[in-house]
Amino acid sequence: MSTTVVKFGGTSLADASQMKKVAAIIEQDPARKYAVASAPGKRFPDDIKITDLLYSCSSLAESDQNFEPVLKKIERRFQDIIDELGIAFDLKAEIDVIRDHLLTGAEKHYMASRGEYLNSRILAAYLNFDFVDPVYCIHFNEDGTLNSEKTREDLARTLSRSGHAVVAGFYGSLPDGSVHTFSRGGSDVTGGLVAEAVGADLYENWTDVSGLLAADPRVIENPRVVDFITYRELRILSYMGASVLHTDAVLPACRAGIPINIRNTNAPEDPGTMIVSSLPAGRAQYNVTGVAGRKGLSVVQAEKVMASDGAGYTALLLDIFKQLHVPFEQCLTGIDTISVVIRSDLFAPMKDRILRKIRDELTPDALFTKEDLAMITVVGEGGPESSAALVRMLRSVSDDGVEISTINQGAGDLNLIIGVREEDYEKTLKAIYRAID
Ligand code: ASP
Repeated sequence: MSTTVVKFGGTSLADASQMKKVAAIIEQDPARKYAVASAPGKRFPDDIKITDLLYSCSSLAESDQNFEPVLKKIERRFQDIIDELGIAFDLKAEIDVIRDHLLTGAEKHYMASRGEYLNSRILAAYLNFDFVDPVYCIHFNEDGTLNSEKTREDLARTLSRSGHAVVAGFYGSLPDGSVHTFSRGGSDVTGGLVAEAVGADLYENWTDVSGLLAADPRVIENPRVVDFITYRELRILSYMGASVLHTDAVLPACRAGIPINIRNTNAPEDPGTMIVSSLPAGRAQYNVTGVAGRKGLSVVQAEKVMASDGAGYTALLLDIFKQLHVPFEQCLTGIDTISVVIRSDLFAPMKDRILRKIRDELTPDALFTKEDLAMITVVGEGGPESSAALVRMLRSVSDDGVEISTINQGAGDLNLIIGVREEDYEKTLKAIYRAID
């Protein structure tokens, strides 16, 4: 029988009625044997996530202030879930343990993890599944990076002993045994690790949207849902600002070639988005998978006649950024010109030093900067008509009177990055989307 790992996000587990939907989804398919749960998220737009309440408790305790009212709120939310689900669960004893921790040291990571810990125990009790505490099987190194090998081994061993289990998301432990969390949204990563460890056939990531949208809905009205996207395309779009999944969640699934399906707990009949290693053959519906962008970028452009003849010019220029500890986003080279794209917030405070060093050490014929730029990336590994799609997009952008500052074609059939002035960002996105939809 096939195995599916299901991960449910905070809004999917925000209250008892959501938990009931989750249970129905799990019970509907016997392949759904392993579940990963987040802490209760927002029930309505200005609600506060349990994880945020836990962080507040920790900061209040750290500064010797009264954390009791916040802890009470947390207890109330869990108690409501327990009562409405009608399960036996001694919440008071658990809250007492948390209180003791708060009184003896705030331990931010431990506190933040308690939302996942409690919610997963509650879900496991409701489903009659085993509960797996990742403190014993997800391992971080001393510097906070994941120890992937040990994690894979321990997770696989633990889960092989259990036919059905709920694993708490978001945390594991450091070598000294203390709790350590991933960065925010990290339960997605736990889901990827569990899927890899059990050799799952599918990793379903259940959230509150019916998949990844092909463009930012704040700019484009009703963008289509992406049906298939490759790991590589997703990585590029996420880097440029599209968010549907923690970026580190893709790695373990990609390593093991497990497809990830983004699904909507509130619309379980929607097929969602499939994240795969390569697009299914014959799927020529769209040449372009999606478009995303980022504002707040700057470009430094150096020109030097014969620069392209000297092998080391680009390396020397990039070395200046390295020496000054300023990371760059992209480097574009032309004949005798080199442009380096940098985040404006990192560039602005270092601008004078960077330009001075370039002038002194590389004596360029000309040195320009362009600030307040936006970069828009379009990805699509969808078919042979990529260059036609590319031309259509550029024509559409130029028809709308947008001046393109930089163009960069990355690896892949279609992975185009266009730089425009920040004020033209929305206009460009709309022009591109018009051309690709
Ligand atoms: N509860 C954590 C957060 O709010 C982790 C997660 O939901 O994935 O970031």
